[in-house]
Amino acid sequence: MKKWKCMVCGYIHDGDNPPKACPKCGAPAEKFNELSEEQRKLIDHSRITNQFHMELVGLMEQVKEIAELGIEDDLDPPCVKIFEKALQNATEIQQAIKAEIVGHISKGKWG
Ligand SMILES: [Zn+2]
Repeated sequence: MKKWKCMVCGYIHDGDNPPKACPKCGAPAEKFNELSEEQRKLIDHSRITNQFHMELVGLMEQVKEIAELGIEDDLDPPCVKIFEKALQNATEIQQAIKAEIVGHISKGKWG
């Protein structure tokens, strides 16, 4: 399927023709440029990768919740240490994913 990019706001439209107006910023059809095959592939690939990142962010959220319960539970120092490590690592992974996604958007990989 063809893809069109709004030159005003960067919105990506999937379809044979550009939309009459951009659903995000209201720009008219003339403001849409058709993307090349290479750009289309990159966007499709990025959407899949983005999905993986989002699933990982959700899993890390669960890790953080469990780790916080473990810290609260406070059986003994070695256990608490493990939970604290899990909490820290999960937070770092989430931050890395957010930074990576911002990087993709600024490089135009995502609409
Ligand atoms: Zn737009």
